[in-house]
Amino acid sequence: MRYISTRGQSPSVGFTDAVLAGLAPDGGLYVPDTWPAFSRETIAGFAGRPYAEVAAEVIGAFAGDEIAPEDMRRMCEEAYATFNHKAVVPLVQIGPDVFLAELFHGPSLAFKDVAMQILARLYDHLLGAQNRTQTIVCATSGDTGGAAVEAFRGRKNVKIVALFPEGRISEVQRRFMTTAEEDNVACVAVKGTFDDCQAIVKQTFQDQALRQAVDLSGVNSINFARIAAQAVYYFTTAVALGAPHRPASFCVPSGNFGDAFAGYVAMRMGLPVARIVAATNANDILSRAFETGRYARGAVQATISPAMDIQSASNFERLYFEGVRRDPVETARAFQAFGEAGALDIPPQAFATMRELFRGVAIGEDETVRTIVSTLNETGELIDPHTAVGVAALRHVDDLRGPVVVLSTAHAAKFPEDVAKASGVTPALPRGVANLADRRERYEHLPAEAETIKAYVRAFAES
Ligand SMILES: *Cc1c(COP(=O)(O)O)cnc(C)c1O
Repeated sequence: MRYISTRGQSPSVGFTDAVLAGLAPDGGLYVPDTWPAFSRETIAGFAGRPYAEVAAEVIGAFAGDEIAPEDMRRMCEEAYATFNHKAVVPLVQIGPDVFLAELFHGPSLAFKDVAMQILARLYDHLLGAQNRTQTIVCATSGDTGGAAVEAFRGRKNVKIVALFPEGRISEVQRRFMTTAEEDNVACVAVKGTFDDCQAIVKQTFQDQALRQAVDLSGVNSINFARIAAQAVYYFTTAVALGAPHRPASFCVPSGNFGDAFAGYVAMRMGLPVARIVAATNANDILSRAFETGRYARGAVQATISPAMDIQSASNFERLYFEGVRRDPVETARAFQAFGEAGALDIPPQAFATMRELFRGVAIGEDETVRTIVSTLNETGELIDPHTAVGVAALRHVDDLRGPVVVLSTAHAAKFPEDVAKASGVTPALPRGVANLADRRERYEHLPAEAETIKAYVRAFAES
């Protein structure tokens, strides 16, 4: 399997290089040159199998012959053994034919663990084989950093720098990053927004001199291996609810569009998916795009679902590329224009294709709070604000078919203040992380200046 850039100016690469590079050198995103597909029989056969086995098949389809099936299987087993629920991603029913897929049973209590735990093992495996060390730079709107630090701390062949917007993430989110004791981990509070952090990471990667001096890598949701790992739970949940005979719909609390795009990938691999709803908070670039055909940045607003406070949804470029029938010249033009002007119009043909599958809904703060309360009253489930955005969005879409799966992306205890304020109930941290508040923190404060942060990354990588 080969990986090509959405902007068409970089040579195609294999799975290993696509994973270790993250972003393509031309600024585009890697996608497989063709979508691997499963037969209906294969998909039906996923029913009742352990999560790690299905993961090995789905992710293995993207690795092709670059990873031996038994290695993939072992890595998936190890990765999902870190979860504290035997089903890994259990389903909980909250209404007639409406289910929560609980993606938060991993070490940092957010869905990002699902991809990051396997990604860290892939890195170890692929870098170890090449006797190589890389420095990962990642921007986090809250949960990526914690999941990445949990997955990569102490790994031999990787150093990791996590950048987060100062004061815009919860204390629990911050502590998952800043309390790691291993010295291959560095955390930086940036005076700016998540979009500033993400722009700095992009600039860091575009600095060829720095890239040569330090072997840089990215594990943000632009990394294709994360998308592949996220496609897995679309299969396991849909199959548990009757796919491939009965198509399922998904409602996905969305920011950078990695999670919802993974649903598109599962569909391209043969899973019957009726509808994917991209549910956003007030930072509604995605929901507006799917409703109006115009993908246009707004000002970032701080909300109680901070992991989605994003006004530039990186993975949207991948869907655009598919929408314009994989025309890299058009994709490069559109996203260069977006980079400069902050807006692009989706061509009518591409928009029509997107609307076959996607809907967008934006949910305000009041409705998010009311949804936490009503879900608790009606079902006894205490959900976090991100999940609440997804649950609330259901009411605004009238053409959902089949069972509906809302992706529950974080544990309520990751946002204890806001959940307690909304519901009057303080969610308890699961056993194993209960002492988080007592651990010692360690992090730097830096301004949102690319040059300053690049210098810091370089010094850390060379230390
Ligand atoms: C990252 C995150 C999201 C958004 O996922 P994307 O793949 O960026 O769209 C939603 N909820 C939580 C809790 C997250 O951590």
